[in-house]
Amino acid sequence: MSTKYVYYFGGTSSDGRSDMKNLLGGKGANLAEMCNIGLPVPAGFTITTEVCTYFYDNNRQYPETLRAQIVEALKKTEEEMGAKFGDPENPLLVSCRSGARVSMPGMMDTVLNIGLNEQTLKGLIKKTGNERFAWDSYRRFVQMYGDVVLGMKPQTKEDEDPFELLLHKMKKKKGVHLDNELDTDDLKKLVKQFKKAVLERTGKDFPDDPMEQMLEAVGAVFQSWGNDRAVVYRRQYNYPHTWGTAANICSMVFGNMGDDCATGVAFTRDPATGEKVFYGEYLINAQGEDVVAGIRTPNKIAELKIAMPEVYQQLDDIRNKLEKHYRDVQDIEFTVQKGKLWMLQTRNGKRTGFAGVRFAVDMVHEGLISKEEAISAGRIPPDDLNQLLQPIFDPEAKRKAVEEGRLLAVGINAGPGAATGKIKFYADDAEAYVNSFSRDANGKLPEDAQVVLVRQETSPEDIRGMQVATGILTAFGGASSHAALVSRQMGKVCIVGCGELKIDYKKRTVTAGGKTLKEGDWIAIDGFSGEVMEGKVATKPSEVVQVLISKTMKPEESKVYQQFAELMSWADDVRKLKVRTNADQPDQAAAAIAFGAEGIGLCRTEHMFFDHILPMREMILSSNTEQRKAALEKLLEFQRSDFAGIFRAMKGKPVTIRTLDPPLHEFLPTLDQKDKQKEVAKMIGVSPKSIEKRIKELHELNPMLGFRGCRLGNVFPEITEMQARAIIEAACDVAKEGIAVEPEIMIPLVGFLPELKAQVKLVHAIAEKVFAEKGTKVKYLVGTMIELPRACVAAAEIATEAEFFSFGTNDLTQTTLGISRDDYGSFIRHYIENDLVKKDPFQVIDFDGVGALMKLGVEKGRSVKHDLKIGICGEHGGEPDSVKFCHRIGLNYVSCSPFRVPIARLAAAQAVLEEKNKK
Ligand code: ADP
Ligand code: MG
Ligand code: MG
Repeated sequence: MSTKYVYYFGGTSSDGRSDMKNLLGGKGANLAEMCNIGLPVPAGFTITTEVCTYFYDNNRQYPETLRAQIVEALKKTEEEMGAKFGDPENPLLVSCRSGARVSMPGMMDTVLNIGLNEQTLKGLIKKTGNERFAWDSYRRFVQMYGDVVLGMKPQTKEDEDPFELLLHKMKKKKGVHLDNELDTDDLKKLVKQFKKAVLERTGKDFPDDPMEQMLEAVGAVFQSWGNDRAVVYRRQYNYPHTWGTAANICSMVFGNMGDDCATGVAFTRDPATGEKVFYGEYLINAQGEDVVAGIRTPNKIAELKIAMPEVYQQLDDIRNKLEKHYRDVQDIEFTVQKGKLWMLQTRNGKRTGFAGVRFAVDMVHEGLISKEEAISAGRIPPDDLNQLLQPIFDPEAKRKAVEEGRLLAVGINAGPGAATGKIKFYADDAEAYVNSFSRDANGKLPEDAQVVLVRQETSPEDIRGMQVATGILTAFGGASSHAALVSRQMGKVCIVGCGELKIDYKKRTVTAGGKTLKEGDWIAIDGFSGEVMEGKVATKPSEVVQVLISKTMKPEESKVYQQFAELMSWADDVRKLKVRTNADQPDQAAAAIAFGAEGIGLCRTEHMFFDHILPMREMILSSNTEQRKAALEKLLEFQRSDFAGIFRAMKGKPVTIRTLDPPLHEFLPTLDQKDKQKEVAKMIGVSPKSIEKRIKELHELNPMLGFRGCRLGNVFPEITEMQARAIIEAACDVAKEGIAVEPEIMIPLVGFLPELKAQVKLVHAIAEKVFAEKGTKVKYLVGTMIELPRACVAAAEIATEAEFFSFGTNDLTQTTLGISRDDYGSFIRHYIENDLVKKDPFQVIDFDGVGALMKLGVEKGRSVKHDLKIGICGEHGGEPDSVKFCHRIGLNYVSCSPFRVPIARLAAAQAVLEEKNKK
């Protein structure tokens, strides 16, 4: 038997089913399914995606047996609908609709009213007794067919649609505004003009043969799979180009035959808020796209209850039936022809993060789905939880801003949320500016105190400016650049790598999208989408944060919070991975705990040092051990109290503290910052010249591969000693207060066993000393970060000295791929757009390379210590796919920035479910 290319649907039985989306496309599979469950669907058939791939592989030809199969399915369709395709007495009209496996809204084409010509038109008039309607349909058909099949659709924004032009002229001539105010004669004239335009443009007469019309429309639908828009869309969502689209031939039903007709679209629940209300719009006496096209203002679906009570009742029943059947919210299209309701489409509705959570929780309570289904990735992509945590732009306000031409540029969306603020170009300016305002009784700053820090890039010195800023926008840097990293950790809205920005620090202006903004001007940035907009855009605060962090709302006041909390508890019941946070300060730690963190996976001590930059500089610039020790003495005090604060906030939860890591030069004044050099010189009591000399000595060509990590602690043991002392002393002090402590000291950038061994020995020696001094003991671990390929390969050796491992996947990615995370902005987009890499490796773990090394590290490490505790503390620890990978290779925990903790919790639960489903 030859391949089945055509699948019939109609009446109450179909060849297809809803689970055949790969072959029939989503639209085709669901049209078939709706027939199967007894809903009224105009009969028709689906030409499979295989025909589309055949079409592309064979020089735009159809398979030989296709035509015969179409003829057969068409016969069944005609019987079901009681009309004949191309018949001058009783003509059947059809539509030809695209439909891929996944919905690609607005990307591909559809042609309505196929089968019309001068003869069938007469039949249609006779059959319906409605001449105007018939001519209106013909007018629409010639226009759509001309646009889609004959390629007359405008290619650029400047081009005009020749049909729209003629239509416009006609309306002007008649002095009317709306299409439906034109009379039959006008429409007749228009059809004539349209056909003439076709002949002029294509050199051929408009086709009259219905079968030719249908087959050509099918070809055009297939072609639309390959159009630019569709290609770009697939790349964005990672859908393969090889899938192809199906083409659906569907009997026409008419919503434009009079006032007892209508067409509409609806969601079975509100897709923005998740509320369980029927949500949609319809138009009386209209066809197809009219509702969405905005030609006339549509009515709310609730009004249909009054306009057509019986139809509304039927539709509402269908709404319930569909939800019960699909067990998810549906997005439907329907048409009412002379009081009879027809269903034209159903699919799982796209939703916001808010709606996703609410749908899932409500449906569990309604008994429609299980808890496990509720937390599955198909229903709630973990990243969508972001929307519940971050302030968001009011969608209306944003749409308006874009319409008004205020969109300036688009960068990399690095920190989700919405921020509106005044432009500041320097961190210290931002800080001074914001601090010049005072807080109200609720601790809130006035609106004018909102700042967006706009910079080429940020450095650790900008931290405090970043802290006060509402949003951060940089021209350079990628998704794990300093700005991105710090912003996420602080939960700040952030866009990085926005190359279109031209920043002039001298003039204090930024230019983009042909506009120049000054310091102090308002700017709005959307960290969800990367969009940068001129002026203010209204925002809405997140209720979850109000309940958990700022405590300005009570749990019982926020439905969103309650549902979020319930969903998270289901995720916690399922997941095996622990979730920790990366936090350097007590308030960050406290926020993370409120979000469900079970410990700190990475506390970077250098961030603490930035609050005490002067003694830090003193320490680095010292030219002998004595000077250095004197400086360290000062730092010890700060560090001890910082650590104590964190231990208190964590209340016995494990806290992993990394000893000093970053390249030292990051802390130093630059060569042209003479005043800052003088300041340190005075402090240490040396000449400014010698400071300059020391800065030059410390200069490195490649600091990322330079004097950093445990290399510092090995060359200057007193640094590690001071840090170990600060940690252990703080732990003892807090333990004495009656608060449990669980410190884990982590040595960074270890490659060779002896590097670790020496540091471990130092830490133990200091700990013993402190215990003796304090007359008390605490339990602590010493482990290492695994962030060099050598450490993965030699993990068995390293495990002999390490009490735990933590993968530092930022550095591991840099060193494995030989890509600098600070400089990859210049080429990574090209790589992604040309499919040279699948994903940004600093966002999603490169599973086959970096991931394989991690797997090796786990195996080797546990071959020595079978229950070795292993985690991840790179930025990847809060990225859902990477979290799932960590689960698969058997890590004990992931650690991520506070605002990503809920996302990691959900992803960790999904990892368990996905594993179960595979088995
Ligand atoms: P899209 O995937 O862009 O929604 P569709 O194939 O669903 O495209 O069709 C576009 C519009 O035409 C929709 O409003 C749809 O309801 C309408 N339409 C499609 N086929 C028919 C038909 N056979 N009868 C009436 N309206 C139709
Ligand atoms: Mg549709
Ligand atoms: Mg590192």
